[in-house]
Amino acid sequence: MSAAENVYPITELSPAELGGIFKGLGEPDYRLEQVRRWLYGRAAGSFDEMTDVPAGVRDYLAAAYYIPRPEVLETVVSAADGTTKYLFQLADGLAVEAVYLPGEDHDTVCISAQVGCRFGCRFCATASLGFRRNLTAYEIAAQFAIIRGERPERNVRNAVLMGQGEPLDNYDATVTAVRLLQDYQG
Ligand code: SF4
Repeated sequence: MSAAENVYPITELSPAELGGIFKGLGEPDYRLEQVRRWLYGRAAGSFDEMTDVPAGVRDYLAAAYYIPRPEVLETVVSAADGTTKYLFQLADGLAVEAVYLPGEDHDTVCISAQVGCRFGCRFCATASLGFRRNLTAYEIAAQFAIIRGERPERNVRNAVLMGQGEPLDNYDATVTAVRLLQDYQG
């Protein structure tokens, strides 16, 4: 679903706010975790995918919110070892990169924390982009969730914040994203 002006990204609601919506709808307490697992664990792209959530709840959410899931614009796969570079388009049209790194025992995903970067390290290509904006916690965690979700047969369990941007310059979202990864990608 596109980011229409009259809808709001559901991932910007706090757990308390989202839980309050379900309480107002008379839904059981477990509905909050159920929907959060779809968002952060499975990187669902639409409310229709939440098949264990009642249709009436899904319709209610879809009328008021959208899911700002990053879209995969391009992938480049290394023939040597399967390392895969991803270009994600964000809901506002900006783009960031992430990299899937296969290993022997487990795989790693290198994710971005910002679009561009305000620090001008001379050796770094991102520096030439300048700073565009911070990623949200959801946008940081979703890069991992999407890449992991494409490989259910692999042991993808390591995330490193070494993509675009300086994660400590986007501290709050980075910490929240790490917690989301621990809670829903563990
Ligand atoms: S992304 Fe990292 S290495 Fe690149 S300019 Fe920013 S702080 Fe420096």
